Amino acid sequence: MKKFELLRHFALISFAVGFLFVLSSCEKSITNSTSDEQDDVEKYDYVSSVDQQMAASLDSINVPGLPVCIATYLDSLPTEEISESELSTLRFVREEEFLAHDVYVALYEKYTIPVFNNISKSETFHTSMILALLQKYGIEDPAANHQSGVFVDPELQEYYDQLMALGNTSLNDAIIVGATIEDLDIADLVSHLEEDVDNEDISFVLTQLSKGSRNHLRAFNAHLTFRNLTYNAQFISQEYYDEIVQSDWEVGGGICGVCP
Ligand code: MN
Ligand code: MN
Repeated sequence: MKKFELLRHFALISFAVGFLFVLSSCEKSITNSTSDEQDDVEKYDYVSSVDQQMAASLDSINVPGLPVCIATYLDSLPTEEISESELSTLRFVREEEFLAHDVYVALYEKYTIPVFNNISKSETFHTSMILALLQKYGIEDPAANHQSGVFVDPELQEYYDQLMALGNTSLNDAIIVGATIEDLDIADLVSHLEEDVDNEDISFVLTQLSKGSRNHLRAFNAHLTFRNLTYNAQFISQEYYDEIVQSDWEVGGGICGVCP
């Protein structure tokens, strides 16, 4: 996985997107307007329904006592010996969730479309689940003094800088940044689950986070579709990407009444 080729990918994607716009505007002149309008209505309905599902998921996070409820649940699972790979996974994912959060907060400030605001709140919940595990195992929190956009892990810092540079160029690029972050998060979570962790509590949390990330990918994909943009998966396989965006929103299986 060549993680540092992002910018080159972005340039190619941006070019491809621009080209698609040219193609689609050409198509519009030869297709009949009724089916175009029908198509637009369907895309609007789709993006609206996905935004509503995202907002509904967030309602479940806005409950008092949630951090205590989560910590209590995780403490009720066995405290198993923790491996080096589990330690580094927890440290990395704690900051990786902050990366998603910080990018979405910044992009919401710039473009003010609700999808960024909604998903940033979900990322806050994700970071807090990892924090509960760090505390359970007595691990120092790498993000204890987290400042927005500043990361201990140099790889994440480089990602953040690249993603923000792209996201600041246009709203279309910002939506692509959203899909890119979720693509990356899912790939990393799947790999951590398969290769790095086996403790029941850690596996549980990473499984919840990947479920949340798949919903986030569905949300950003709906916005891509709405804007006639194409994104090619860079970290997970295109087959898995397609399988995710074509399947239903995932609910249930969380803890404390929360949809991840
Ligand atoms: Mn997340
Ligand atoms: Mn996410």
